[in-house]
Amino acid sequence: MYTALVIGAGFSGIGAAIELRRRGIDDFVVLERAQEVGGTWRDNVYPGVACDVPSLLYSYSFEPAPWSKLYADGAEIQQYIRHVVDKYDVRRFVRFGHDVSSMTFDDAEGIWTVTTNQGQLRAKNVIASYGPLANPSLPSIDGLEDFGGDVIHSAAWDRNHDFSGQTVAVIGTGSTAVQLIPELVKVAGKVVVFQRTAGWVLPRGNLRTPPRVLRFFGRFPFAQGLVRAGLFRATELSALALVWNTVLTSVVALAGKLFLRREVRDPWLRRLLTPRFRPGCKRMLVSDDYLKALQAENCQVIAWPIARIGDNGVMTCEGVEHLADAIVCATGYEVTKAAPPIDIVGRNGKSLNADWARGAFAYKSVSVAGYPNLFFTFGPNAGPGHTSALVYMEAQIQYAAELISLMVKRKLTWLEVDAKAQADYNEWLQHRLEKSTWNSGGCDSWYLTEDGFNATMFPGFATTYQKLLRDIDLHHYRAAGDLELAIGGPRTADLRSHAVNR
Ligand code: NAP
Repeated sequence: MYTALVIGAGFSGIGAAIELRRRGIDDFVVLERAQEVGGTWRDNVYPGVACDVPSLLYSYSFEPAPWSKLYADGAEIQQYIRHVVDKYDVRRFVRFGHDVSSMTFDDAEGIWTVTTNQGQLRAKNVIASYGPLANPSLPSIDGLEDFGGDVIHSAAWDRNHDFSGQTVAVIGTGSTAVQLIPELVKVAGKVVVFQRTAGWVLPRGNLRTPPRVLRFFGRFPFAQGLVRAGLFRATELSALALVWNTVLTSVVALAGKLFLRREVRDPWLRRLLTPRFRPGCKRMLVSDDYLKALQAENCQVIAWPIARIGDNGVMTCEGVEHLADAIVCATGYEVTKAAPPIDIVGRNGKSLNADWARGAFAYKSVSVAGYPNLFFTFGPNAGPGHTSALVYMEAQIQYAAELISLMVKRKLTWLEVDAKAQADYNEWLQHRLEKSTWNSGGCDSWYLTEDGFNATMFPGFATTYQKLLRDIDLHHYRAAGDLELAIGGPRTADLRSHAVNR
């Protein structure tokens, strides 16, 4: 029986493992369904894959790296993750090829039994780090399975597929597509882009880090820390435009329109590419070459809705069949905004899959009432639209590790968030979300369930979220064991000493 079991060896699972070790907890295991660490950065190997958040910020706060570019490409990020795993000696805790299908909580013992394809494991605590962008989503379009050529999802890229000279249909124009399409246009005979919704595009400006800057950062790591802190503050300011619908949102819209006007001369194409929603409502797209690629001689943008897919290509609703040798789906992921990807059975047989069927919710995105000793990273309402998700993730990891340490120290059988505290938190959260660009910006996005419920984003600054998670109020928890003793004198366990990006 383990003190902790971590599901997933992506950024957050590895971070959780490092934090547990830092606190002297060594009897834990990390279950990973694949044969390598890295999560979404291991899986996404499509041409052009890169981070759309500056790498100085999209990395662990405790492990700066000599990033070769402002926005590192996927391979460099994966190399970084492997470096961290080796440096912090995490690999020996990871059991590869373990695919978790379900987990059940035993009330009396306060223990989770986790079922995998390799058998069952028991653990006192579970940190669910399976990640929101783990399972590719193929579009539900009639006839996709009948297509005669290859259908390739961006997150399950076929490195052996040779696109040269082929006609490639690309479905989707989101964050992935804007990276992938310019690369496909370079090699394919023809690229036909099927756009359902035009997104806001801003230039990225991916500068190479000059060698002298890398040397300087190597000698003076605090200087790199200062730049990271500066980037963090700058992205925090962008929340004023991207999280809430303000006058600054209109400034971003103006910048997007000017960029579109500068890049696209043809008024008809410009019209097709002009977004009809407020910036921030969907994830901002950053690219220097996407709009140029769409105007390449071998590229065509189709904005007619897709009616069906046939043996030879894609049929749009005005009756035209666009022949294709291959279809690339840059159509995103089965994001966990409702039921989790594994069966989770909590106290008294309570099913999290049923509880979350119409939309996920939690307390501070980490704990869920009815499911003691379970902690989520990248859980409900834990996402930012304006800065690095890793900032949020580190706050969640520290929160979970602090509570697990407390349980170990106080020998608590179980620790569970109070249902009322969770309900109050969600009332506050959903009230704030009403005014956010995601809920009121006039678009459909993967942030919302089909009912329009926002189960994914945190409506505020990252600093607000960090503070929320630094302050653990144990009066919002119930426990078997001496919680009074655990609470001790002060009402709040203050985690300020572990704060990142202060
Ligand atoms: P996405 O943002 O969900 O975009 C999916 C695209 O596919 C959208 O354009 C969508 O159109 C289209 N689509 C889906 N189903 C369709 C259908 N049935 N017919 C036609 N079009 C369809 O997916 P993504 O681009 O893979 O990005 C997902 C997330 O991954 C991002 O939001 C971001 O968080 C992350 N990401 C991050 C990076 C990074 O650098 N950090 C890079 C790539 C991705 P609609 O817009 O009309 O729905």
